[in-house]
Amino acid sequence: MKVAKFGGSSVASASQIQKVLNIANSDDDRKIIVVSAPGKRHPEDIKTTDLLLRLYEKSVAGLDYQNKKDEIINRYADIVHDLKMDTAILDEFSTILEERIEKYRAHFPRLKDALLSCGEDFNARLIAQYNNSQGVPTTYISPLDAGIIVTDTPQFAQILEESYGNIYKLRDIKGKIIVPGFFGYSKKGNIVTFPRGGSDITGAILARGVRAKLYENYSDVSGIYRVNPNLIKDAEIMDEVTYREMRELSYAGFSVFHDEALQPVQKERIPVVIKNTNRPQDPGTYIRYDREIRPDHLISGLSCDKGFTVINISKYLMNRQVGFTRKILTVLEDNDISFDHMPSGIDGISIIMRTHQIEGKENKVLNEIRKQCDVDELSIESDLAILMVVGLGMSQMIGTANKITEALAKANINLKMINQGASEISMMFGISVKDADNAVRATYEGCCCSANKIKSSVE
Ligand code: ASP
Repeated sequence: MKVAKFGGSSVASASQIQKVLNIANSDDDRKIIVVSAPGKRHPEDIKTTDLLLRLYEKSVAGLDYQNKKDEIINRYADIVHDLKMDTAILDEFSTILEERIEKYRAHFPRLKDALLSCGEDFNARLIAQYNNSQGVPTTYISPLDAGIIVTDTPQFAQILEESYGNIYKLRDIKGKIIVPGFFGYSKKGNIVTFPRGGSDITGAILARGVRAKLYENYSDVSGIYRVNPNLIKDAEIMDEVTYREMRELSYAGFSVFHDEALQPVQKERIPVVIKNTNRPQDPGTYIRYDREIRPDHLISGLSCDKGFTVINISKYLMNRQVGFTRKILTVLEDNDISFDHMPSGIDGISIIMRTHQIEGKENKVLNEIRKQCDVDELSIESDLAILMVVGLGMSQMIGTANKITEALAKANINLKMINQGASEISMMFGISVKDADNAVRATYEGCCCSANKIKSSVE
């Protein structure tokens, strides 16, 4: 059995939905179909989830929201019209929106989840009804009926373990099953959404629940690029990557697959394939537990993410002081700051965090560190970018770091810090934000492509 999830652009219009159903219906194993809300049809378009967000904002502000509601209904009306479906379904959608606004008027966070989840929910109902009308037995199953039980914190649903037993029962249903992505139900009966982009998470949960042999994730790209294709012309698509590599790449800014979606599939070692709805014949990128290490592709991918702040602390003889780091970490904890990296030397330590973690608290944190640790020097820089180079093969090959630093040196890029975790699956380089794009180009061209494959970068 396979679970196939289709992202927003794959279900944005009638013609896209027809492509989705051609894919879904062409394979009997493709039994469970998870759909997103209609996404953008063209670059200036607005995603249905964002239209729902506007409806939510108007209704909590007590303003007239009718035109916002109409915009949403019109998105589905276009699809219903083009698929030549009965328009009665649109009245149902309109009633559901009104009922939810009425029911949750006094519970703002609940209203947000109740409205935003409609994007996926309406699409799933619509697509199931259409597929049935085409003679393919198809059942719409809500997350409630599928048994997707989640925690009760609005917008941050986390799956509860007991869901998996419920989901397994979906195997007994005959025909195709269409489930809306992006939300579940808490034990109190509330609709709770996953973080934005969370339909990937629903797909992964269902794949684990029914013990699927494959989780197919369809979007509008033919796989995962090794590097941002906006920076490198003809960037390569990976044929396979491991869960652990993918986790590191997501951290560094790869957004093709939601990082929270890896956890359920990783647990049961269910392979995931990232495929293109518009080019289903392309092989896509497989995300698996393990992969063969190929000497020509020691580095799977690389990315440079901006928006980091580093606190640099120096203290003579720091290495001999017991509890020095604990004191610093206590200051961070007291200020509710989580950090990402902590490269250190004998007389100094740097703490790197996402800038939003410390924004507005900089002086307070520095003063507290000064007070607790009696430091010699203390500084903070907020123009840091982190270049992450990820590859399973790096642990087995001598000289990879050398290749990367050589490529960066040739591009005249100053390395502020370097860190390699014990897993040797990734290397992290702290650089200036102004060097970020050049660093990606230099590293990709110097280390990622075999000599005959070096492509020229976009100027
Ligand atoms: N529709 C939701 C969003 O735009 C969830 C998703 O598409 O995965 O974030």
